[in-house]
Amino acid sequence: MAKLQNPVKTSFEKVNDDLKEIHSGLNKYSKALEKKFKDRPLPFADNDALTTQTPLVDRAIAMHLLREGHFDVASTFINEVNSKQPSSSTSPTHPSVKPTTAASWEADFAPTALKSTALQQQFSSMYHILHEMRNNSNLSPAITWAQQNSSALSARGSNLEFDLCRLQYISLFTSSSTLAAIAYARQTFPRFGARYAAQTNSLLGALAFTPNIATSPYSSLFTPNDSPTSTPTSAQFNPTTLSTAAAAFTSEFCALLSLSSASPLLTAITAGYLAFPTLLKLSLIQERHHTSWTTAQELPVEVPLPPSYQFHSVFVCPVSKEQSTDANPPVVMPCGHVIARESCERISKGGRFKCPYCPGESHLRDAKVVYL
Ligand SMILES: [Zn+2]
Repeated sequence: MAKLQNPVKTSFEKVNDDLKEIHSGLNKYSKALEKKFKDRPLPFADNDALTTQTPLVDRAIAMHLLREGHFDVASTFINEVNSKQPSSSTSPTHPSVKPTTAASWEADFAPTALKSTALQQQFSSMYHILHEMRNNSNLSPAITWAQQNSSALSARGSNLEFDLCRLQYISLFTSSSTLAAIAYARQTFPRFGARYAAQTNSLLGALAFTPNIATSPYSSLFTPNDSPTSTPTSAQFNPTTLSTAAAAFTSEFCALLSLSSASPLLTAITAGYLAFPTLLKLSLIQERHHTSWTTAQELPVEVPLPPSYQFHSVFVCPVSKEQSTDANPPVVMPCGHVIARESCERISKGGRFKCPYCPGESHLRDAKVVYL
């Protein structure tokens, strides 16, 4: 035992010495962290508009999870939110009908009762279509969807249905056989009629140059990677073509649900993250100079954000040259021109009036408020 005691003791001491080094390193590290990121209270905490709006925040999070395709996380989140709420017997129960319009999922997402079924169905079908498109180069589900929603898409002025069919035609043309492309064109193109006549004519004209597309007048119809001369026939689409098509599809799919193509929560958080240093600096300066933020609804500093985060929420009336406010919102006249409501009232004098920018006539009661 005595013989063993010494080696054990020295080993322990050695271990403790080693640990000392680690502990001092850790201490130094946490001190450095504290020095670098000073523990400062977040600004504007006392007038944070979101603390009283928990249901809206919950709704935004649930929406984000659903539209990103995290259905499991979303349903757990929604269950936990609902179980936390005092059981309100007044919240109506919605029968689970397959939704076709934006209104049906909005009912499910009333802030009082979070439910996800309708929206989840929509997004799971969206992700199925995207998966087929990206992973299997299979455009058929997307084309079927576009055909089913053809009238809504063309009402929006969308070219999605034609673009997808065009891609399918090009893919048949380049990777299978000319005959398959002809058969597909016969079956599909007549549906697009006169609206796309120029494009369909060019696509069919390319057939005449089949072996030498790259040197033909039609080479521009085929992106370099798609052209028959440069592509080994194994890959049907080049990745850029596919991701462009997938983005266009996502955007149209969300638009038919009255949703933006990017998650609003992600947009808001990213914009907030980018703007935060400026706001923090502003609050520190205000604290130091004991000034306060007096201008209502307007920041005293410029917050630089990239163009994709700029939403034109500011409208200046072209008649009065004044910026619109809640009390004086922009209104759109039947001709489509937009002016501030006060200008509209001034011009109309209560009766019919001519638009200041075109010969269109309108009445004050026909002018609708525009929400930017
Ligand atoms: Zn007009």
